[in-house]
Amino acid sequence: METHHLKQLQDILQNNFAMSSIGITPLVGYDSYNYKVKSNKGSFVLKQYPNSPEIITLVKSENQVLNRLSNLKNYDFPLAVVTQDGEDLVINEDFVYRLLSFVEGEFLGDVIHTPDLMQSFGVFLGSMDKILLTTYDTAIAARHFQWDLKHFNDNKIYLPYITNSKDRNLAAYFFMQFNEQVSPVQHLLRKGIIHNDANDWNVLTTNGKVAGIIDFGDMCNSWIINELAIGITYIMMGKEEPLESALPVIRGYHNIFPLEEKELDVLYYLVAARLCTSVCNSAYSKTMKPSSDYITVSEKGAWDLLHKWLSLNPIRAKDAFRKTTGFPYSKKPKFEYQLKRRKNYLSDALSLSYKNPIEMSQSAFQYMYDTSGNTFLDAYNNIMLAGHCHPIVVQAGQRTMAKLNTNTRYLYEELLVYSEKLLSKFPSRLNKVFFVNSGSAATDLAIRIAMKYTRKNKVMVLEHGYHGNTRIGIDISHYKYNNKGGGGKQDYIVQTPMPKAFGSIYKDDGTAGNHFASQMAVQLKRNNGEIAAFIAEPIMGCGGQVPLAKGYLQEVYPKIREQGGICISDEVQVGFGRLGEKFWGFEMHDVVPDMVILGKPMANGHPIGAVVTTTEIAQSFENGPEFFSSFGGNPVSCAIGHAVLKVIDEESLQQHAKKVGNHLKGLLNTLHQEYPEIIADIRGSGLFVGVEITDTNGNPNTQLAVDIKNRLREVFILIGTDGPYDNVLKIKPPLSFTLQDSEILVAEIHLILKDLIKF
Ligand code: PMP
Repeated sequence: METHHLKQLQDILQNNFAMSSIGITPLVGYDSYNYKVKSNKGSFVLKQYPNSPEIITLVKSENQVLNRLSNLKNYDFPLAVVTQDGEDLVINEDFVYRLLSFVEGEFLGDVIHTPDLMQSFGVFLGSMDKILLTTYDTAIAARHFQWDLKHFNDNKIYLPYITNSKDRNLAAYFFMQFNEQVSPVQHLLRKGIIHNDANDWNVLTTNGKVAGIIDFGDMCNSWIINELAIGITYIMMGKEEPLESALPVIRGYHNIFPLEEKELDVLYYLVAARLCTSVCNSAYSKTMKPSSDYITVSEKGAWDLLHKWLSLNPIRAKDAFRKTTGFPYSKKPKFEYQLKRRKNYLSDALSLSYKNPIEMSQSAFQYMYDTSGNTFLDAYNNIMLAGHCHPIVVQAGQRTMAKLNTNTRYLYEELLVYSEKLLSKFPSRLNKVFFVNSGSAATDLAIRIAMKYTRKNKVMVLEHGYHGNTRIGIDISHYKYNNKGGGGKQDYIVQTPMPKAFGSIYKDDGTAGNHFASQMAVQLKRNNGEIAAFIAEPIMGCGGQVPLAKGYLQEVYPKIREQGGICISDEVQVGFGRLGEKFWGFEMHDVVPDMVILGKPMANGHPIGAVVTTTEIAQSFENGPEFFSSFGGNPVSCAIGHAVLKVIDEESLQQHAKKVGNHLKGLLNTLHQEYPEIIADIRGSGLFVGVEITDTNGNPNTQLAVDIKNRLREVFILIGTDGPYDNVLKIKPPLSFTLQDSEILVAEIHLILKDLIKF
């Protein structure tokens, strides 16, 4: 501290408070200057503020509220010490000074958080708020600042300062939830003056009980429940079981100052809002004052808790808050009743996953929340490429839906900008796009265009391929027409074996690819220039996550073209960066198709599909009846599709898929070494992985694969099974799936195998 400044402060204390033997040490503060004062009259805190009429009014109000709190005899508050002239402030030209009594004790942040202490913390907050409820102050009520959770949305402007895009979007998710879950009920929440910053460096304890609180600088007239939300937020940081650690605080509070159900029901989101306020302000302040340690003190704790909070089903939190305060749990319809309703209204042709089906309520990034309060780690739903309910994607849809929804018979920016962005992801010859509403509609259209362009009408397909649910879609999907109850192969379909290296006698070094391509060439000859199109997925999803054998497409594509057909790549499952190494599946095979079909992850769950092709092929479709799709290419879908592309770029999702996918495959390969006969093959690319399960004789082990899937479901992890024998574990999570998530998944598979496999 500068001696000149020190002298100034000493003079103030001497002249106004008649102090002598004064020792002054600065205290760290967020954005005010505080000093600890020791003198002949005892210990105090001197606060210095820049002089402004607003500060003077607010600080005077603060002093009055503190006076009122002094009636709370069991606790200690910093009380204003008046000057010799009876003033509670010392004001000079530049600054306002205020002397406060020193609150003794150990910080809550420095002591062990026993349940007793936590309960006493709740009792303290409840006692304080009960008194504050009988206080009103116009200056405090008029205060509008970003740390008041009722103005949480003011912090949105700081989101761009969060440099890690995944973290930024996590915070954006909770802003979105605040607007969905809290804003509609805000008028029902009780309001009153609250301390508004009961963090563990403001709360003091003695002998294992809370004894007082300091720093009323954030006091405001807000929703009363925010007091508790803030208090428990800091308690939960760094805890193994955050929710559990908060419950005694809530109980203690409720015993003194009864809470209302509607307050408890938004508490989960208010905790998230406080964490986001904290990380947003840290991010902003870091750019303003990069050297300040104080600002970043709680940042890591806040981020860690925010990530943990996301993995907590909001229903579980709500029920825990209700249970601890004696309110009834949230009601949910009986499972059997829901099943009965489903059976009443829907056909059994639609199947439910898992032996023990799941009733979902919400989802967020890599998590899905069921109606019973469980959180599922989603390692299966590839459609949610950017993550469930990704805020950038959701908001693109919400905003556009509120602005314009029409069709391609008009000009509008959303269609143009999205087409341009989408086509920029393709080799230059693929430069025309037709938008539809599903992968199936894309398949259907692709085959129609191919037939028109080539004036041929046979289609060559791979065995075990799947391309869609329309009439043509089923016709060209061996997976469906060849299945039990399927209608069998149509005459215009030529089916050729799936070029799968695993299980063949050929290696995947080009020999397997060459073998299957030669087989296909024989069939091609038999069909004598009649093939309009050859369609294949680069990695066959329904076929059991099978990457086409190396070199296969490179041999097959020219052969198809030679006889006058076109080559279609079905990128519905694998496109948009999931494969890690490449953005599109065809790039993995070093070929450029004539046509590509898109769907599933294209709009993160919003129904959209597309056919991308060359100018020449598109032109051939121009001299027939007009092509029109009521919904294909509408502005809302385009805005959502565009948002997905933005997120893929912004969050480097392709690189992420590569990193996490490699880690996952590494872990699975370790399991493969331990169970070489059971885990017969690990394949796929990025976060599109298949695990082939066999018995000790090398035969497909459907039962074991299905058991693993169902056992994983019981430990709240979602995967699927597929393939001709349904013996392949399908792992294709949202790309918010982390390295740690892949470790959790493989560890659980390991535990299940240990339990199920007894040699
Ligand atoms: N192609 C492939 C490879 C698919 O996996 C699917 C859907 N499973 C489709 C096409 C059809 O897409 P949609 O279900 O959106 O009609």
